[in-house]
Amino acid sequence: MTVAGSIEEALSARRQGAAILAGGTWLMRDPRRGQVLPKTLVSLHALPGLAAIDIKAGHMTIGAAVTHEALGRAFAGVVGFEAVVAAAVGAANPAIRRVATVGGNLCTQDFAAADLLPVLLAMEATVELAASDGPMFIPMAAFLAGRRVLLTDTILIRVILSRDLAASAHARLPLRRAGDYPVAIVSMVLTTEGRLRVAVGSVEDVARRWDALENAFAAEPGGRPAGAERAAALAAACNDFRGRDGIEADGWYRRQVLPTLVRRSMEALLSKEVIR
Ligand SMILES: Cc1cc2nc3c(=O)[nH]c(=O)nc-3n(C[C@H](O)[C@H](O)[C@H](O)COP(=O)(O)OP(=O)(O)OC[C@H]3O[C@@H](n4cnc5c(N)ncnc54)[C@H](O)[C@@H]3O)c2cc1C
Repeated sequence: MTVAGSIEEALSARRQGAAILAGGTWLMRDPRRGQVLPKTLVSLHALPGLAAIDIKAGHMTIGAAVTHEALGRAFAGVVGFEAVVAAAVGAANPAIRRVATVGGNLCTQDFAAADLLPVLLAMEATVELAASDGPMFIPMAAFLAGRRVLLTDTILIRVILSRDLAASAHARLPLRRAGDYPVAIVSMVLTTEGRLRVAVGSVEDVARRWDALENAFAAEPGGRPAGAERAAALAAACNDFRGRDGIEADGWYRRQVLPTLVRRSMEALLSKEVIR
């Protein structure tokens, strides 16, 4: 394993076939999933700035090497970003959260239950990648759609969030028999313009926005559902998720719990003054 002293060094190692090592909580378990560990690794832990969180008036940036624990601490009490905190402190367990990074969460392929994905989709985050010919700025949804190809020769550097949010919520359903991974996740944000955005994780192979529900919310009198029960009813009526079958839960079950998670998310938003 090499420890990159600069982004250029890390990119060069990547071009030569090395895999990026961040916290290692996912990568180092490859053998347990029947996968072969990469032959060469390049660690990002010594890169200055990658573990930084910058909270400014108009936007925030989160470095790829920021751990879940640090993320939860830094965003605690920041209005509009409650879902980031809920996802960061609700994922995995304390030992994992101390080392598991934001970059690792976003770049792990074939892991449907990543908590930060629906949060960052609903927040319409932008992802910054380092590439040989300069930085690339990609909306979260496009990043997820093209991740497999994009990450062959790039490195995720940071996530950029706009501060146009009044409130947000993150509801997840972990099951003991699913190893405490969430079998379904709903992240919801209320923008300062009064628009509700919803994203769902773990139900399909990759997290995605729930466009049908967002449109149903917007069509309600006043532009949003009157309460949490109404939100759940709308969720049941426009549930267009396929539901992935897995050893930990069947697809129909993941679909079925979505209205409940929508209700819980809406209750959390309603508990904030802004939406009353
Ligand atoms: C017991 C257990 C429970 C868990 N529970 C949860 C949970 O509840 N919710 C959840 O979301 N996750 C959970 N996870 C999954 C996992 O730990 C997280 O997704 C974590 O964020 C991965 O981060 P890492 O820094 O350890 O990544 P690593 O394991 O170091 O890397 C993961 C992948 O991302 C790539 N990568 C990492 N950083 C970058 C970068 N900057 N640029 C390009 N590629 C990069 C690596 O090459 C590798 O392919 C759990 C894991 C375990 C072991």
